[in-house]
Amino acid sequence: MRDARVKPADGPWVQPPTALQTTLPVLGMTCASCAGRIERGLRSVPGVAEATVNLASEMATVRFDPGAVRVADLVHAVEEIGYEVPATQTRLTIQGIIDASCVDRLEKQLRTVPGVTEANVHWATGTAVIKHPVGILAPSALVQAVEDAGYGAQVRTEDQPADGIEDARRREVRQWRDRLTLSGILSLPLLGAMVAEFWVPQSADAHLLMNGWLQLVLATPVQFVAGFTFYRDSYFNLRARTANMSVLVALGTTAAYLYSLAGVIWGRRIGITATYFETSALVITLVLLGKYLEAVAKGRTSDAIRKLVGLGAKTARVIRHGQPTDIPLQEVRVGDLVMVRPGEKVPVDGEVIDGHSAVDESMLTGESVAVEKGPGDTVVGATLNKTGSFVFSATRVGQDTTLAQIVRAVEQAQGSKAPIQRIADVISRSFVPAVIGVAAVTFFAWYVGTGDFRVALLSMTAVLVVACPCALGLATPTAIMVGTGKGAEFGILFRGGEHLETVGRIGAVLLDKTGTITRGEPTVTDVMAVDEVTPATVLSLAAAAESRSEHPLAQAIVAEARAENLTLLGVDRFEAIPGHGVRAEVGGHLVRVGNTRWMEQEGLVFTAVRDATSHWESEGKTAMLVVVDGRTIGTVAVSDTVKPESATVIATLQGMGMDVWMITGDNCRSAEAIARQVGIAPERVFAEVLPEEKAAKVREVQATGKRVAMVGDGMNDAPALATADIGMALGTGADVAIESADVTLMRSDLRGIVAAIDLSQATLRKIHQNLFWALLYNSIGIPIAAFGHLSPIIAGAAMAMSSVSVTTNSTLLKRYDAMWRFRRGPAAVAIADR
Ligand code: ADP
Ligand code: MG
Repeated sequence: MRDARVKPADGPWVQPPTALQTTLPVLGMTCASCAGRIERGLRSVPGVAEATVNLASEMATVRFDPGAVRVADLVHAVEEIGYEVPATQTRLTIQGIIDASCVDRLEKQLRTVPGVTEANVHWATGTAVIKHPVGILAPSALVQAVEDAGYGAQVRTEDQPADGIEDARRREVRQWRDRLTLSGILSLPLLGAMVAEFWVPQSADAHLLMNGWLQLVLATPVQFVAGFTFYRDSYFNLRARTANMSVLVALGTTAAYLYSLAGVIWGRRIGITATYFETSALVITLVLLGKYLEAVAKGRTSDAIRKLVGLGAKTARVIRHGQPTDIPLQEVRVGDLVMVRPGEKVPVDGEVIDGHSAVDESMLTGESVAVEKGPGDTVVGATLNKTGSFVFSATRVGQDTTLAQIVRAVEQAQGSKAPIQRIADVISRSFVPAVIGVAAVTFFAWYVGTGDFRVALLSMTAVLVVACPCALGLATPTAIMVGTGKGAEFGILFRGGEHLETVGRIGAVLLDKTGTITRGEPTVTDVMAVDEVTPATVLSLAAAAESRSEHPLAQAIVAEARAENLTLLGVDRFEAIPGHGVRAEVGGHLVRVGNTRWMEQEGLVFTAVRDATSHWESEGKTAMLVVVDGRTIGTVAVSDTVKPESATVIATLQGMGMDVWMITGDNCRSAEAIARQVGIAPERVFAEVLPEEKAAKVREVQATGKRVAMVGDGMNDAPALATADIGMALGTGADVAIESADVTLMRSDLRGIVAAIDLSQATLRKIHQNLFWALLYNSIGIPIAAFGHLSPIIAGAAMAMSSVSVTTNSTLLKRYDAMWRFRRGPAAVAIADR
């Protein structure tokens, strides 16, 4: 170990004042010189005192000045020179977030924890997601940081994604309710006094209620017990040089309270003739009411996760030591043999070893017809076993199961920020200081103008209270939460809030043909042979050559040969030529199977089969030539049926004003035939596109000035999906390619495209409505209050209602019906017939 101290050029050894040491895992090193390079790279970061890289343990030990360098910078430095710092994330459940500025402050605080590269706090879910290199950060340090900032935190155990958060959320609701109850009960007599003073000023009851000392006794616990949370929060905010809603509430109510206190003690001697205990107490009560209702409503925005997690089984029946034993789900290990009886849920993902059954996979595929399962078939956790019993071997457990991935995807999307939220963030950051300024101006203007201290005080308090920017901060995240949750319900997974936002702004949809518009399960329809060759020979040679290919066309040919009981010869030297075909050596002959374009390029003549292939292609079939040793011996036609919903979906998209395009590697004639069947104009068809050219075509559509969504099966379309503004992948049951696409449609039903766009637009509408009302409320409320036309109590009620109404407006999105366009549209009948 080297000496970690630094030696200044002309001085004694000194310990850097605030040096901090951390250990980063570094991957990708191949030799000692790599280690040296990383060391130099790290040392060149200003603020790094020393860096040592251990090649064997793949660890970098860095000593640095935390004031000058963050771990993120170190990670960046390592990545900059081409190595990887593997990262992970820890999730915390946070309690006590009051408004958007808390989020800001917490994020800042968490980012100062050594090791943290990124921290995102999400108010509506009450979660913090903290990214950090693996193994260098104790979760307790994060909890500590959150507590230092004045909030509560628990580490979320990944195995039970939603349990902890549920408990925490319930606790938070309870806390607000308790505060509200206390302050409500004590405020009631004060409200009574206010009413009595107004209606029956001379009665004995009114007299008693208006006793200043009694009011003081009632108002004090409201101010300092029920309202303690606002003081506490203000303290932490001000210490961090920020201000939020709590500061406004605390300032406003304290002013009213202290004025009244002075009135009770000194009264007329200092010229105070009235007290405002009812104002301070009722404002606090109303704000607490708002916070309570908001907490309840926020709980309702996160139903989706709860529902998803509820889908899973709680226990698994695992065969241990030859005996079936029921164990908790978390204890199932990969390789365990799991028994499933009729009516039970499949606990984890796996492969059937023994037994047969029908499994309802509708939670994944949306298809309610049960799927037959036998040995060798894959089963997915949380699907429902119907008829038989079977035993399967667990292949994915815990956080790797399909369900866990889905839950994570939804949580991540819910926790991410949509770009539109930045508007609100920016506004609320400078808002509170501005309001304090306005309040101060209001006070002095009134006091100087009228000499009436009371009016000045009340107007100022009203400004402070009415201006709370809670609604503004809630406008976007609550809508995003409900929107993404709603999506999951329909099998639409958005990878992040930004994608939910972008989908709604799409102007063009580019659909892959094979597997997207068509079923992707091609079957051989015709085989034609030349001269003396028999069709069986053509098919068996083609099938032999294709037997090593993964392509759906290849599989169709092989399946057909099997169905006809043809024996296939062995294959040597197989090669797939993407977008063209395959080449292989079969029984000593060079066999090529592929499209006419390829054969033309290779300079082959195939006059004998040209008419047949053209004819098939005009029917929308795909024709492939079979060439043996340079001679065309025949041709095979394969056809893939169009999905039943394709035409309806395309018509609906066009009706929504979208340009719909088709893209395929298939030949022009069959592509256009399919396009005609589904209602896509020939000029919107890209055919004979090589896989690597698809991304360029996406750019071509983008050049028309529209935002483009590319929809594909995600297999060979990855670059095109990535190039498009939105890449939508059609999920194929168990293999949900969630990570690769911006949007995953778990049910490979194209109606999901319409639903995704529509849901996104509905969510955007909600966000706009929310922002509009929140801003309107503040911009009307503040001037009214400043001109003295708003009592602080009404201001309190208004502010409580504004955040409640924004949250409630978001939860209304739950009523959204993704299929309404199909139920009401002209296509209703066609879909209902399925
Ligand atoms: P798509 O865009 O429809 O998914 P691909 O790019 O995978 O199509 O393939 C384009 C064309 O290349 C096919 O229509 C077919 O003519 C030819 N082709 C690709 N792979 C094979 C194969 N294994 N055997 C025969 N032909 C193939
Ligand atoms: Mg394809």
